[in-house]
Amino acid sequence: MIGQDVKRAAALLKEGALVAIPTETVYGLAANALNDAAVAQIFEAKDRPAYDPLIIHTDQIEKIQHLVEEIPAPLKKLLDAFSPGPLTFLLRKKLDGISDQVTAGLPTVAVRIPAHPVTQELLSLLDFPVAAPSANPFGYISPTRAQHVADQLGEQVPYILDGGNCDFGLESTIVGLTEDGQVRVFRKGGISIEDIEGIVGPVLVNDVSASNPKAPGMLKSHYAPKTPIYVGQTSKVISNLSGKKIAYIGFNMLNFELPVEDQYLLSMGFDLKEAASNLFAVMRQLDQSKKYDAIVADWFPDQGIGKAINDRLRRASSEFQ
Ligand code: AMP
Ligand code: MG
Repeated sequence: MIGQDVKRAAALLKEGALVAIPTETVYGLAANALNDAAVAQIFEAKDRPAYDPLIIHTDQIEKIQHLVEEIPAPLKKLLDAFSPGPLTFLLRKKLDGISDQVTAGLPTVAVRIPAHPVTQELLSLLDFPVAAPSANPFGYISPTRAQHVADQLGEQVPYILDGGNCDFGLESTIVGLTEDGQVRVFRKGGISIEDIEGIVGPVLVNDVSASNPKAPGMLKSHYAPKTPIYVGQTSKVISNLSGKKIAYIGFNMLNFELPVEDQYLLSMGFDLKEAASNLFAVMRQLDQSKKYDAIVADWFPDQGIGKAINDRLRRASSEFQ
């Protein structure tokens, strides 16, 4: 059921039940990160493979400090600059801290402090962190509204805490250190690479790669609608698909080869942040309408959050699957 009762959500989490939570990135499917039986239900509900680790969420870094080794200086700087917010940190975990079930056996644990006020309030009522991946069946588009969660996981989740539409609408950026101490962006997301480099100087960036099972946010086929989606070279793709019913996703300019009513522009005001926040909802809407045989999209400007939009389009696209 969908509701706005933060105390009820907290009580359910304390009992070891699942609760879907609103964040500024996407809706999460939360459970007590220190309770293995509770965490197991996340994997079950999402049909998520055990090798894909979860991000833990807290409202204050002090609350989880006893579970991790000391935070390295560059990550501390980023934490001070962007938390609460859509930035996730890979921290070395202490031996008896977070279970291998949460971290898929990795020596690091992913930690985020979400900024959404409803979830901040919820987390403030808990003395444990919650593990929370996106609240969608594994591999599908992440939910950006409470109703999206209800549509797909309503049966498995006793309570969906409604916090409205997600502000960023794309998952968090994930940062960590390489073996030799350099900052690496493991997944592009809500905080741009330019913003990160503004604080710690040049960073390494992981591009989409299937051969990196250690960072499954890097799984290339992900965030995918069931309708095939083709990105770039739209003119060629449209002629290859002739006779098919095609929807178009673009930034703010119509595609002159397709009927206007089949076009979905993500930001008339040419605002990448607005486009990002609409992307998943539009993909989901097109998929569920079952009106289209294919979706054709243009690449977005490759700057700021545009890089994360392009990353998600690339991973959703048919050529990758
Ligand atoms: P989701 O919350 O569904 O976006 O998924 C969480 C993602 O965070 C995973 O798919 C991984 O990419 C990433 N992640 C979580 N923990 C770790 C970790 N310890 N090392 C690397 N990546 C991680
Ligand atoms: Mg996910």
